[in-house]
Parts: sequence; structure tokens; C-alpha cells
Amino acid sequence: MTQKDRAFFTQTQIDEVYIGQGGGCAGDGCTNSLASGFQAHHKNKKHQDNRTENLALLCVPCHTKTLTDDPLKNHNKLVETLMKYRESAIVATLKNEIKGTDLERLLAGIEQQKSDSWKLNGLSNMFLYPSAEITMKNVLVKNGQLEEVAIKSFVAGMRSVRAEITMELEKK
Ligand SMILES: [Zn+2]
Repeated sequence: MTQKDRAFFTQTQIDEVYIGQGGGCAGDGCTNSLASGFQAHHKNKKHQDNRTENLALLCVPCHTKTLTDDPLKNHNKLVETLMKYRESAIVATLKNEIKGTDLERLLAGIEQQKSDSWKLNGLSNMFLYPSAEITMKNVLVKNGQLEEVAIKSFVAGMRSVRAEITMELEKK
């Protein structure tokens, strides 16, 4: 199985499952949010079976647990190591052991390593995000603005419908 043989799910399937999972990881007992990215897991391990019912969205650590020998597993291991390194670099900066400018260079280097490993392992389509609409809706809900926006759109919609009806009536 090479990465090219994997079937990819559509954004609509991904969004449907994302909403079904309530924006959280589907891993056993895992409570991680998927808001800042996730990976698609083929539940029956058949990587060409891209039916929606075969899709589970997992955070990176949970997905890594499901993989055997896979370029993605190697990549995920590197990412986990880099993330630990990143955390300790940030802590060291807070303790004044590393200068802020050095931290910036370190973080840029970490991002570079991540994207290099990504390309080397042929994984360009593997990391997924919720669609912008879902992200936007979640932000509106979090800020308590959803109702306000919905009412505004409804009123705007009603106004345009009314304007259309008036135009139709004036024609007659
Ligand atoms: Zn998880």
C-alpha cells in the first residue's frame, strides 16, 4: 500500500463526520478537539473504501496508534518529537535560557522540518481541517453571536424577497 493508493474523502464527507463527532476526536476515550486539524481514518482499514460510514476523524496521536508501517506513522512520530522539542524551547525562553530571536529561528526550523518530512513521505493531502464555514460557525457560537447573525441574515433575506415581490407586482 503506497500513499497514492489511498482513497481521499471529500470535504462534504469530512464536514458531515466532523459535525457528527461534535468536532471532537473519535478515538477511544480521547477528548481532544479537532478544531486545529485532524486526520482521516478508514475504520475497516481498507484504504480504498471511501464511503462516509468508513470515515472516522482522529487527532494525530490517536491516528498514529492505528497505523502499522506507514509513511504517515513515521511522519507523525517526528511531529510528536518536534512538538516536545518546541514546548521545551518555549519553556526555556520563558526562563530566559534562550533569547526570543533564537526561539523564533528554532520555531521556523521546526516548521521547515515538518513540511520537509510531509513532502518526503508523500503526504500532501493527509492533514485535514474543518471547512471555513464550520470554523466560522463555531466562533460565532463561542462568542454568542450566532443568533444575532442568523436573525440579520433572515431579515436581509426577507427584505430581498419582499423587494422581488414588489417588483413583480409593479410590472403587472
Ligand atoms: Zn484522539
